Order: sequence, then C-alpha cells, then structure tokens
Amino acid sequence: MEKISVIVPCYNEEESLPLFYEEINNISKKMNKIKFEFLFIDDGSSDKTLSICKKLTKKDSRVRYISFSRNFGKEAAIYAGLENAIGDYIAVMDADLQDPPKLLIEMYNYIKNEGYDCVATRRVNRKGEPLIRSFFARCFYKIINKMSKIEMVDGARDFRLMKREMVNAVISMKEYNRYSKGLFSFVGFNTKWIEYENIERVAGKTKWSFWKLLLYGFDGIVDFTTSPLMIATIIGVLFCILSFIAIIVIIIRTLIWSDPTSGWPSMICIMFFLSGIQLFCIGIIGLYLSKTYLETKARPIYIIKETEKNK
Ligand code: UDP
Ligand code: MG
Repeated sequence: MEKISVIVPCYNEEESLPLFYEEINNISKKMNKIKFEFLFIDDGSSDKTLSICKKLTKKDSRVRYISFSRNFGKEAAIYAGLENAIGDYIAVMDADLQDPPKLLIEMYNYIKNEGYDCVATRRVNRKGEPLIRSFFARCFYKIINKMSKIEMVDGARDFRLMKREMVNAVISMKEYNRYSKGLFSFVGFNTKWIEYENIERVAGKTKWSFWKLLLYGFDGIVDFTTSPLMIATIIGVLFCILSFIAIIVIIIRTLIWSDPTSGWPSMICIMFFLSGIQLFCIGIIGLYLSKTYLETKARPIYIIKETEKNK
C-alpha cells in the first residue's frame, strides 16, 4: 500500500491545529486506498501547539511530530519534515487551512494517472491582502524572474505533493539559506500547477510582517542569482565612461572660457551621488558575503528538542 506523508510546519498554531487535523483526517478517510502519515513540525511554538501534537499522537498512531528547540523558521521546518518523512509521496501544507486539504485527492490523481512528479499550487488572486503588499509581491516576481534562470511562479504557495525522487533531490541540497520556492524549481522534475482562490486563515494570525516579507524577497534574489553583482560592475563601468567624458568637457571648457572656480555645488552633488552608488554596490557585495559566511559555518538547519519517539 502506498503512503502519503503530510508535512505541516506549525508555529503558534494552537487554534488552527485541531481544525486542521479534523479536516485532513476526513480527507484521509476518503482516500482509503492510501496510508497516511501526518508529520507536525512544531517550530519552537510558545503556545500549546506541542501539547496538541502530543495529544493527537496518543489518539492517532499516524500522527508524528518533531519539536524544535527554538523557532528556526518555516523553511527549516519544511526541511526537517522532508528529511524525516517516510512516505512514497510527500505533501507540504500550512496548518491554517489556507491550503485546502481536499485538493490532495486531485493532486494525487495527477501524479498517479498523468505521470507528473509533482503537483504544486498557486493562488490566482491576492484577495484579503493589503494592496501595497500585492504590489510589492508582483514587482518582486518580475524582478527575480528577469534576473534568475530559475523560474519563480507568482503566487506559488508552498502547498505541494511530490514523489519520493523529487524530495530526495531537495534534501540533497543541504544549504543553510533555504528558499524553498527556488529549491523546488531548481531540482526540476515534471510539475503540474493547479490554481485556487486565496482563502483567509481559519484562526490565529499570520507570522509575516511586511518587513519580514521584504527581507525574505531579498533572500530569494541573493540565493538564486548573482546578477546584482553584475549590476554593480556595470554601474562602475558606466560611471568610468561618464567621468572620462566629463573630464574632456571640463578641459575644453576651461581652455575656451577659463573659469576654474565655479561649479562647487554641482561638485558636492556629484560626490554625494557617487558615494551613494558606491555604498549601494558595497552593500550588494556585503549581502553575498554574509550569505557565504553563514554557509561556511555549516551550522545545523534545525535542532530537535523532542519527537514522538524519544519523548
Ligand atoms: N510557520 C512556521 N514557522 C515560522 C512561521 C510560520 O512553521 O516561523 C508556519 C505556520 O505555522 C503556518 C505556515 O508556516 O503553518 C504559514 O505561516 P503563515 O500562515 O503565518 O503565513 P502566510 O500563510 O500568511 O503566508
Ligand atoms: Mg497562512
């Protein structure tokens, strides 16, 4: 009998988790030809998430959990889930029911009957989201897709069902700075995209502030393309050419009108402008350097405090 592992990263989800379990349990009853495993990753929650996981484990032997020693972030939670899941198919899903579990049936059928390796989801609209956030999100996808060879799909969610082979490929990438959307795209495989309307979370609050999302966006760019470094180089070359022309113009002007002292304000403006550009480019290099620094330390991506086995 085939097995589906459902990985659910949970960070302070005491309100949503019981609702989620109920829903996924119903779906598993409908898919009665397949065995299930529910793997909850408690990402250092400070509420009752862990004790709910424990209760569910006692009630249902299909439920497993991994509890982190602190909050390591959703990417780390997904990685821990992928590493520890034992199913033939592996699904990643949010605990807040924004990823409707009933889609699993359709997803499984696509893989089983139409030969896909992976079925991923994207939302078609951004209903219920602040306008400014949607605007920045759209810009982000335009920019990153121009700069990176890896395709990032606008509105892609982390909700997906994958075959074992694909999951093994994702796990084999042990990088510390994990940007799952890019990693899933990087490994390739035959992916079917299905669309659904954005649903608001059933309970609790989102953990993403605008600022966090912005930084996450930068991470995505730095992790999947080095073209910003190229931009720095190009700006440098352009300014060399520009200054060369300016020198010639000034020499000619001085020879004709001989006016050596004017132009102080424009000089200051140019100095400010150029030091701005320089700091900007150093910043870009700094971003890559800091990522390299973190990678070379090779720290663990997550640290387990307890699981259902060693409790
Ligand atoms: N999550 C996590 N660790 C974090 C932040 C979030 O495991 O540090 C989980 C969270 O519990 C939820 C999923 O990631 O299951 C998505 O989080 P959220 O709903 O806040 O994000 P959104 O759906 O608004 O993008
Ligand atoms: Mg959510």
